[in-house]
Amino acid sequence: HTHGLWEETGEPGGNLHRHRENMQIPHRKDPGRVPGNQTQALLCCECLDASRPWLCYWILHSLELLEEAVPAAVVSDVCQFLARCQSPTGGFAGGPGQHAHLAPTYAAVNALCILGTEEAYNVINREKLLDFLYSVKQPDGSFVMHVGGEVDVRSAYCAASVASLTNIITPTLFEGTHNWILSCQNWEGGLGGMPGLEAHGGYTFCGTAALVILGKEHMLDLKALLRWVTSRQMRFEGGFQGRCNKLVDGCYSFWQAGLLPLLHRALFKDGDVTLSLSSWMFEQQALQEYILLCCQNPAGGLLDKPGKSRDFYHTCYCLSGLSVAQHFGNQDLHHELVLGKEENRLAPTHPVYNICPEKVAQAIQHFHQLPIPAQKGATACAEDQS
Ligand SMILES: [Zn+2]
Repeated sequence: HTHGLWEETGEPGGNLHRHRENMQIPHRKDPGRVPGNQTQALLCCECLDASRPWLCYWILHSLELLEEAVPAAVVSDVCQFLARCQSPTGGFAGGPGQHAHLAPTYAAVNALCILGTEEAYNVINREKLLDFLYSVKQPDGSFVMHVGGEVDVRSAYCAASVASLTNIITPTLFEGTHNWILSCQNWEGGLGGMPGLEAHGGYTFCGTAALVILGKEHMLDLKALLRWVTSRQMRFEGGFQGRCNKLVDGCYSFWQAGLLPLLHRALFKDGDVTLSLSSWMFEQQALQEYILLCCQNPAGGLLDKPGKSRDFYHTCYCLSGLSVAQHFGNQDLHHELVLGKEENRLAPTHPVYNICPEKVAQAIQHFHQLPIPAQKGATACAEDQS
């Protein structure tokens, strides 16, 4: 599966192999005497071993979109599990005992904000989280995904998302970040993972949402971005492709269609008087048809395209895209377009954080009562500039 935007989390290889030895799990290429079904289950768990906070987020967000309540005992269990994924050096890892990484940090903070209980908020060590963000910040304004790891635009979004939700943005944390993100927008109009790379739906969403959080989205070439993203909705399928000349994929229902609310707001702030007051600038009905008719597994769960298997990642992002296609506007100006039965209606999602808007408001209200932690990284930054 090539879109794997969020796949390489945690400590590549290391912990996986240790676990394998401890638990006597046979190696992928040597399934040994384990019967077929059991091997499949092990391989499934193994490849997601460094994405466990993601599983929490994908499932919890799917449930909130479906307006299914989570029992209090499960809420508490998930809080305790995510607490075990929090690194002693700050941030969250792909699983207990692994190294902190920005992707599972984003997933864990989003999951805890969806749970929204006092216990959930108290899991997050904000002082250490800020230390972790400074430890992955680069002098040019970009972020690496983990200490010693790769730079790309996902990391800027993950950092901006968790820092804004938990109220730990210091004056220097995002110094230079918007200019680095802006340099990822290329001649196609979309953004690549790094400056000079091909425009890609996942990276374009991450870069644009990060700029919205930093209040700099007007510095993008918004019209070029609009043209690029609207050209990614496929005229036959109705779903979105991730890049030019690629096949449709259900998960881009969010990464691409989720850009339209961000662009609508940015163009509105820019004073564009020609904007619609009832629909986004994509074919909302065609996207709903693609998701409902082509991306559902009859036994439950959603998928990339017909013939592919269901998984929690595609379930989360197909549902998120369906929600964007059903709900135009915000609380003040809201217009619904629900294709098919009334039961198809999902809850709205916040287009920047991709959790329900009430949960965003509740988290911001909670964390903004707390002081912003002291700026330990300030000295290091000042030294960098000298
Ligand atoms: Zn996909």
